[in-house]
Amino acid sequence: MSKNQALFERAQRVIPGGVNSPVRAFRAVGGTPRFITRGDGAYIFDAEGQRYIDYIGSWGPMILGHGHPAVLEAVTKAAQEGFSFGAPTEREIELAEEILKLVPSMEQVRLVSSGTEATMSAIRLARGATGRSKFIKFEGCYHGHTDALLVKAGSGLATFGHPTSAGVPAEVAQHTLVLEFNHLAQLEEAFALHGKELACVIIEPIAGNMNFVRTQTAYMKRLRELCTEHGALLVMDEVMTGFRVGLHSAQGHYASLIPGFKPDISVFGKVIGGGMPLAAFGASRDIMKHLAPLGGVYQAGTLSGNPVATACGLATLREIQKPGFFEDLSAKTRRLVDGLAAVAKDNGVPFSVDCQGGMFGFFLMDQLPQEYQTVMTTDKERFNRFFHAMLDAGVYLAPALYEAGFVSAAHSEADIQATLDAARQALR
Ligand code: PMP
Repeated sequence: MSKNQALFERAQRVIPGGVNSPVRAFRAVGGTPRFITRGDGAYIFDAEGQRYIDYIGSWGPMILGHGHPAVLEAVTKAAQEGFSFGAPTEREIELAEEILKLVPSMEQVRLVSSGTEATMSAIRLARGATGRSKFIKFEGCYHGHTDALLVKAGSGLATFGHPTSAGVPAEVAQHTLVLEFNHLAQLEEAFALHGKELACVIIEPIAGNMNFVRTQTAYMKRLRELCTEHGALLVMDEVMTGFRVGLHSAQGHYASLIPGFKPDISVFGKVIGGGMPLAAFGASRDIMKHLAPLGGVYQAGTLSGNPVATACGLATLREIQKPGFFEDLSAKTRRLVDGLAAVAKDNGVPFSVDCQGGMFGFFLMDQLPQEYQTVMTTDKERFNRFFHAMLDAGVYLAPALYEAGFVSAAHSEADIQATLDAARQALR
């Protein structure tokens, strides 16, 4: 029995399914999850000592790769000064200032410890600020495991959602309207029916939880207009895309395509913590004034703004602002996806790819899907075989076809080439 298998068996005795977050269990792709012992730059190593080129990067945060010297130094120094005080620190202000400098749509930001917490709080804030209960989310977008967000579509636009998880009462889902991603007519109709009751619309601007699906520009433009016309707030969940698809995140990208575009509330996570538990949500001062201790929307956290996590996030955000950082990362990611597409073409495998900054997705189909149902028509067996062939060759891709991939600044040209060589073998 391999060390990974032994650890997995031991883990399953004391942790449900052997993992602390379901996708790590390899349920979708089958086989034994790798137990990771350490990371170094673009690589992670498992219990057998096997090295992998890491395209998960802790599901996004590790944009600098593992163990970046400047981040390590900042974290070590912060840890020596103290792990947690439950009292304000200057570093929280510094991180807030750094984030606000890069996200002009926000005037204030509140730091929390996970993306789930941040989106949950953002929705509560939107409801508190508007005095409305209902909101729209999209099929295939994931915003963490808050009750009201674990919801699938009802039987039509007049009926609100049903829970997708046991333990979520139907009553909790009844304010959540779930729409098809990128479906303009449906969006228009939903606003015509419910616009004045909507507190907000929450969206992943580039959805990374159904692999990689962009919001079409015309759709995003109309969504912004409809929200404004009906007094609903546009909540952009940039937990994955934030400081990952570009220095100004996905909202910066859409602002470059739609003059004057900005969300009302933004949510960040992953990269802003650099691998430590840290997330944030922010908006204009006018919206943020509703938050406790100023306003009536309650929100709090023992470890919020944690001194070690903020040191990690700050050091990470400082690195990604260095000249040329995103140009290099984007070009490298582009070379990877173009290379994969070329290899697939040579082997006659249907393939489509997309990327933005250091985030990418590939589909074993000829055309990029525009919404969830099409994503789910991917040839799952073929994907799973590809995944395992790549893993055996030392390339660690996301263990599910509905997940995006991530490239870090630590990936070298040689790593990209080795990945393409492995893909050529695998697809053959
Ligand atoms: N929103 C998005 C877009 C995410 O991708 C995720 C996590 N993958 C979350 C929210 C939830 O974040 P967390 O896992 O930190 O709770």
